[in-house]
Amino acid sequence: MKRIEGKPIAESVYAECLAEFERLRTEGHLPGLAVVLVGEDPASQAYVASKERKCRELGFHSVKIEMSAFVSQAELLQTIAELNADPAIHGILVQMPLPSHLDTDAAIRAIDPCKDVDGLHPENLGKLAMEDATGFAPCTPLGCQRMLIESGIETSGRNVVIVGRSLLVGKSLALLLMAKGPGGDATVTVAHSRTKNLAEVTRRADIVVAAIGRPHFIGPDHVKEGAVVIDVGINRVDDTTAKRGYRLVGDVDYDAVAPRCEAITPVPGGVGVMTIAMLMRNTIQACKLAVEREL
Ligand code: NDP
Repeated sequence: MKRIEGKPIAESVYAECLAEFERLRTEGHLPGLAVVLVGEDPASQAYVASKERKCRELGFHSVKIEMSAFVSQAELLQTIAELNADPAIHGILVQMPLPSHLDTDAAIRAIDPCKDVDGLHPENLGKLAMEDATGFAPCTPLGCQRMLIESGIETSGRNVVIVGRSLLVGKSLALLLMAKGPGGDATVTVAHSRTKNLAEVTRRADIVVAAIGRPHFIGPDHVKEGAVVIDVGINRVDDTTAKRGYRLVGDVDYDAVAPRCEAITPVPGGVGVMTIAMLMRNTIQACKLAVEREL
């Protein structure tokens, strides 16, 4: 069984980002990312802090805009409009989830698609479906695909079952894996809460991706011998022995499933590490595309 660690793969993505960054810098361009954080959700604060830290490490121009949990929709849209108009900002990310009084869909649609490095604007999702490389795909699915490619796991012609159909993960990953080309060409099934006999469906898969949001949901009965398992889930479970009072676990019961697998990603240390790496890569890409548009 091979344990697919996210860190070394993320490092190779950062190495590529740095090479591109140097090239852009010598041409007088500095990639810039703005992250908008609304409210004080501790998990969101932690995600935003690690995005900021990585931006600084890579030398990007980084802006964090913190807004009150009681901000109005108009104020949020105004902030997004200002970032859209700011030539120093190439990527804009509105940290989800937003407080319930705000319209998430309207916020995503307000972002200039050319700066939508989270890849959730309808124009970018359309480009993903059309296999148009000028768009941005969502970062977590991109990270999953990159892990498969870098680990030498063939996707072409293989049966992939993705459990979870969110736009952020499952549905977008399905589009990536069924697209033509390296890391694609798979036969993809997307399962969800209405799927009947889930274990029967997932047992047919050469590659199982779990993006459900339920701790240890996928057990050995869901996975055939020799399958590859990608665990996207990040769930907090109470743990009185842990310093913070909780620990992070995936959607897969790692200890029980790993012995059956050809390869499997851990949580933490797997897909989660890749998401920020792909965000940095999308930001570099956004900067490059902005430079090309100027020419
Ligand atoms: P959502 O809640 O948006 O989607 C969950 C999906 O799982 C839905 O499609 C749902 O089906 C399906 N599902 C729920 N229960 C079952 C069940 N019993 N059987 C089969 N399918 C089920 O979550 P996300 O896609 O946003 O996130 C999924 C997980 O990935 C979470 O743990 C999240 O924390 C993690 N995540 C990790 C990231 C990373 O960087 N590694 C980034 C983003 C998310 P239905 O549509 O029918 O309700």
